[in-house]
Amino acid sequence: MKGLAPDYVYTPQGLLANQVVRVSDEGMIVEVVERVEGMEVTEEMPGLALLPGFVNTHSHAFQRGLRGHTQRRLSVHDTFWTWRNAMYAQAQRLTPESIYEISRQVYGEMLASGYTSVGEFHYVHHRPDGRPYAHPNALAQAVVQAGRDAGIRVVLLLTAYARGDFKRPPSDEQRRFCDASLVAYLERAEALRISGIPCGIAPHSVRAVPPDWLEAIADYSRQYQLPFHIHADEQRAEIEQCLEAEDCRPIELLRRCSALGPLTTVVHATHADEHEITLLAEAGATVCVCPTTEGDLGDGIAPYAELVQASIPLTIGSDSNTRLDPFEELRWAEYSARMRYQRRRVLIPDGISAPGPLLFAYGTRYGAQALGLQTGLIAPGLAADFIAIDLKAPALDGWTPQDLPDVLCFGASANQVIKQTWVQGRRVWSV
Ligand SMILES: [Zn+2]
Repeated sequence: MKGLAPDYVYTPQGLLANQVVRVSDEGMIVEVVERVEGMEVTEEMPGLALLPGFVNTHSHAFQRGLRGHTQRRLSVHDTFWTWRNAMYAQAQRLTPESIYEISRQVYGEMLASGYTSVGEFHYVHHRPDGRPYAHPNALAQAVVQAGRDAGIRVVLLLTAYARGDFKRPPSDEQRRFCDASLVAYLERAEALRISGIPCGIAPHSVRAVPPDWLEAIADYSRQYQLPFHIHADEQRAEIEQCLEAEDCRPIELLRRCSALGPLTTVVHATHADEHEITLLAEAGATVCVCPTTEGDLGDGIAPYAELVQASIPLTIGSDSNTRLDPFEELRWAEYSARMRYQRRRVLIPDGISAPGPLLFAYGTRYGAQALGLQTGLIAPGLAADFIAIDLKAPALDGWTPQDLPDVLCFGASANQVIKQTWVQGRRVWSV
């Protein structure tokens, strides 16, 4: 048993001074109690505030290799789709060794920026020509191993991929993402699940996965209560193609395939319309926004006001890992919404004054729910996943116990303020 004694602890009751956080040998929070004379403390943490670690709901680790390398002209008219060609070229080059190396690197960066769990939306599965490796989950295993070695908690979201788009078979570059059949995909998902690795399932998109696969994969998700994640409505072209092929929009198609429910997280929903948002709300589904990536790729700005109005839980993802900073993701979710709607406090429903605690919940608690994890709060019974904030950091100068979450979300970068990161009761990163 450990007893951590920072200056402040951020609990569901707010920021509390003079507390001891007790952590079991298994890395679970046992209790948060007021410190009294003579109480056993194993770790004095002066000048630090302990906050829950962030949950990164959507990552493609290998895309870290593209950072800074896709900004020059790729075509006459650069869009998401021209960026995608560069990403495919990068995906083609990956080997089990190189995907391990880059994942290990990016997971280390995530820990340094305060993410303690990550949902890895993993879609590079097979050899470049599409033939499976001797071990069909070799690349997924390499990513999981990278997470273990770095010290971050990885939830492997095993991606299903079947075709190029609504009308086309996979291109040569997409072959290694694809399983030969639905059965082959589900066998790989089942092997992962019974191995005990935290996992979920993730049809890539309605473009890449046909309706009969969506139905079967949603069934499988319900059978084992596994998170079900899917990209949808990131680009208008996807919506137009879906309307043409299926006579409905992507989120409507998910509903038609019984793939919308409380286990569902729709990634992006950038161009979701009113009816799609109603369907998400009725289903109890979550939306994961990825503001730095959506900005980098020119996707658009999510309909934040309507999503918040519909009480849809939001989470954040670093997606292409072009930036790793949960404060920046949260800030840009709110800032881009302010620019879209030309008003302030868009992500904050009426009746809530301070925005910071709710933005934090998007980055922690709601993310944990979307990945099926018992973490995201400093409370008994949850995993001991923490960040330790340096209360003397110049960026925080002038903070008060009432406004620390606001000062962090609107005034700080992760690398200015985070001194330590803890996962499952273990300090896995410190500066
Ligand atoms: Zn993505």
